Amino acid sequence: MDLFEYQGKQYFARFGISVSPGGVADSVEQAVEVAATVGYPVVVKAQVQVGGRGKAGGVKLAADADEVRLHAGNILGLDIKGHVVRRLWVEHASDIAAEYYASFTLNRPAKKHLAMVSAKGGVEIEAVAAEDPAAIARMDIDPVVGFTESDARRLVIEAGLDEAARDGAAKILVDLYRCYEEGDADLVEVNPLILTPSGAVHALDAKVTLDDNAAFRHPEWDAFRDIDELDERERLAKSKGLQYVGLNGFVGIIANGAGLAMSTCDVVNQVGGAPANFLDVGGGASAEVMADALEVINSDSSVRSIFINIFGGITRGEEVANGIVTALERVAMRAPMVIRLDGTNAEEGRAILKKVESARVISSPTMLGAARKAVELAGAAQ
Ligand code: GDP
Ligand code: MN
Repeated sequence: MDLFEYQGKQYFARFGISVSPGGVADSVEQAVEVAATVGYPVVVKAQVQVGGRGKAGGVKLAADADEVRLHAGNILGLDIKGHVVRRLWVEHASDIAAEYYASFTLNRPAKKHLAMVSAKGGVEIEAVAAEDPAAIARMDIDPVVGFTESDARRLVIEAGLDEAARDGAAKILVDLYRCYEEGDADLVEVNPLILTPSGAVHALDAKVTLDDNAAFRHPEWDAFRDIDELDERERLAKSKGLQYVGLNGFVGIIANGAGLAMSTCDVVNQVGGAPANFLDVGGGASAEVMADALEVINSDSSVRSIFINIFGGITRGEEVANGIVTALERVAMRAPMVIRLDGTNAEEGRAILKKVESARVISSPTMLGAARKAVELAGAAQ
């Protein structure tokens, strides 16, 4: 899960990393209110999950309320590389003596963590890496050994950070590593990490990617998730613990297993349809899960037909069929559906499905045939 800058800064603060006081704003007037509480001058910053906001006009300094109004008005609704700005972060502006770069991420082939520090911050690090790779100091970190204060000192010296910034930067690096390690992130990046004229070192930007596999031990991450860029359907699916991705088509798809769900999307496309979603109900496909899946599909007004594609492996066909029958008793479906059930005990499963078959619930034994039927029904339902 990628965090917005303001969420990343909240996460940083939890690990003692110095960030500027600020607040979020969803409107121009709110931006003015936040600015008054954090104190002028302020920076008004677009909250979108893409880099280069500064260059795109999404980061502006404001000296008074009128300037906040002007910039907030311009930035809200701005399209930055396909991301429309719906939220702002307004923070007290910092004086900058120097801009640096610092990050921790995975070095997968080395099976190590990787620290990167550069005295050339504030610009895109990819550009530095391409034009002047020697300007980036790197250090592989053995996850068992960890990252110490003396490692941090070596790194800031090697990167050529100003003398005045070394102590502060080394401390931030140690805290940043804790944020990365204990905070279960795949990436923490600060660009720019600044030195102020008074000698303080401070994070001016925050990019954090959390490792979703660790979500089970971070109930506090739910607060980040509530407000991320999910659409309504994805929000509902997530609340039910389903593996769902919203798409733009009109055939609702339910399959067991991610591979089969993807193939199902492909086949629907192949026969002239367009999937409304990807939905993997996993191996079990119990009545509970199936009812949840049908509810999510039902909530999508663009769905004109549904294709349930189940291949019984360890899960037996009759179990899946019973699950579908029970789910259909619970959920009143708006769109007609085609069910393809194959694999272990498919015959037994199909016999059970006979109970619910009608002009709107059709069983079809092959994947291609079922896809054709679903697309045909979508046309009829138009
Ligand atoms: P990005 O362009 O998306 O990476 O957004 P950043 O948050 O990194 O901001 C871009 C640039 O805006 C920074 O490199 C700074 O030069 C400038 N900037 C951001 N915050 C401040 C601030 O508080 N004071 C000053 N003087 N400049 C800032
Ligand atoms: Mn930045």
